[in-house]
Amino acid sequence: MFAGHFGIAAAMKARAPEVPLWALIVGTQLYDVLFLPLSALSLESLEGEGYGGAFITAFYSHSLVSAIVIALLAALLAGIRWGTRTGVILGLVTFSHWLLDWIVHRQDLPVLPGNLGNLPLMGLGLWTIPAASLALEIAILATGIWLYFLVCLEENRPR
Ligand SMILES: [Zn+2]
Repeated sequence: MFAGHFGIAAAMKARAPEVPLWALIVGTQLYDVLFLPLSALSLESLEGEGYGGAFITAFYSHSLVSAIVIALLAALLAGIRWGTRTGVILGLVTFSHWLLDWIVHRQDLPVLPGNLGNLPLMGLGLWTIPAASLALEIAILATGIWLYFLVCLEENRPR
């Protein structure tokens, strides 16, 4: 999932305008941001080509337990900085990335960091049907942008 994550950030900005947009965007992309240094260290990797053709090994940044811990950390930091409500929102927005990835990823998402214990990998594999996956991403992105602009229009309407 790529563009869809931005849709979540935009939708959330519409619902919670007090939360900085940059924080929402960083939150929705946090696991992928962590993937970058880990892949530079060859601990994680992305192989294959084209949309839907990627084979992703992200056993640290994208394990279910890492995702929950990172989302809680994001919630904690945001909560300290901006208050409880924003903290909760950022935690949820951060974890939404894992849920969307779970829908599209092939079975490559582990439960524990480093795929400890070799538990069954997770992923519904919507990416194996690129048209369906792309349609989902566009739908989420379009909905997010639409909600965002509705709020902007509402705010700028002369009273
Ligand atoms: Zn991801």
